[in-house]
Amino acid sequence: MTEIADAGDHAAERPSWDCRSCGKPWPCDPAREYLAGEMDRVQLAIVMWANMDEAIPDLPQGPPSELFERFIGWTH
Ligand SMILES: [Zn+2]
Repeated sequence: MTEIADAGDHAAERPSWDCRSCGKPWPCDPAREYLAGEMDRVQLAIVMWANMDEAIPDLPQGPPSELFERFIGWTH
């Protein structure tokens, strides 16, 4: 059911989860701005949870708080 959020030009590359456009860890700032403009905060949080779920098996193991901040923390 999960799919990568459509963030316009700034889409996530898999499995690196870097931005296709600017090469920064996704969601980069333009991707965040785009997503925040597309949906309300609740939808945004749901979509980003789904994306974090997708990203976890792809990304090297790190502190869970890091991924949480990257995918969810900014949506508040
Ligand atoms: Zn980008």
